[in-house]
Amino acid sequence: MFNNKIFFYLLYKKNKLISLFIFLTFNVFALTACVNKNTYRLDEERFFVLTTFTILADLARNVAGDRLLVESITKPGAEIHSYQFTPSDIVKTKGAKLIIENGLGLEAWSSKFLMSSGDIPNVKLTEGIKPLLIEGDSYSGKPNPHAWMSPKKAMHYVDKIVEAFIKIDPDGALEYSSNASTYKAKLQSLDKELRDSLSSIPKERRFLVTCEGAFSYLARDYGMKEAYLWPVNAESQVTPRRMVNLIKTIKENEIPTIFCESTVSSEAQMEVAKSSGAVFGGTFYVDSLSDLNGPAPTYIDLLRHNVRLITEGLSVSAVKK
Ligand SMILES: [Zn+2]
Repeated sequence: MFNNKIFFYLLYKKNKLISLFIFLTFNVFALTACVNKNTYRLDEERFFVLTTFTILADLARNVAGDRLLVESITKPGAEIHSYQFTPSDIVKTKGAKLIIENGLGLEAWSSKFLMSSGDIPNVKLTEGIKPLLIEGDSYSGKPNPHAWMSPKKAMHYVDKIVEAFIKIDPDGALEYSSNASTYKAKLQSLDKELRDSLSSIPKERRFLVTCEGAFSYLARDYGMKEAYLWPVNAESQVTPRRMVNLIKTIKENEIPTIFCESTVSSEAQMEVAKSSGAVFGGTFYVDSLSDLNGPAPTYIDLLRHNVRLITEGLSVSAVKK
């Protein structure tokens, strides 16, 4: 609008040549701004890589260092299982050298997305992981896709990222491998830290109750039992049967505190807490990081935040009702 006003003003002044020049300059400027807004690519120097969600972007950035530009397609707080991608998401893939996804059926939208975005190579980071299978309920027997919730499995993700980066940028091999070993050392000490925290919870209270069954890998690695309202967020229907079963489990096991995740509504879990006598212990970050000012801006922060809530919540005795 602004450039058009100037154009007509100058036309009125009968300075046609200058007005035409200004008009064209403004339009080229506006068009460039528009292109920049519609692409993740911020500079021409570095290869550009996309991930399906924020946690994978954080892992990939730790391997990439400054050598690659890494962006997530879904934003912090987004529901990632049944994400509805938009035409502008497809536009933003232009120029990407690689799309990184989790696999194991996590991203129900990814095959359509990959098809729509053309011939961009992709890698599934769970390739080679023996998945835990979902037990019971309508998803029984299907792989649980939340392998990143165990730092040990996250190390496998990091190795896959290194392989994929070297394929698109062989000259960066040394840099990627060295960044990966530094980051894996951090994951190794995180694993010990989480183990120490969780082992402070009395054995009989190591029972994790969440909305989504996303903690199976973490629960297995740190010796916890788990129960949940629904197996995966792709099918987060709260049925009376699911609620009644969960309330029964909480009462029978005298579980003091229960939780829910940031990307779904915690309303039903609040109801479960009320009916079972458990306390609602707070919001986990599982499928998405928080924004920079939140409690889980990185993968390591995310696990620390969750484990702190678990340790605080389960270290108290249940209030008997
Ligand atoms: Zn999930």
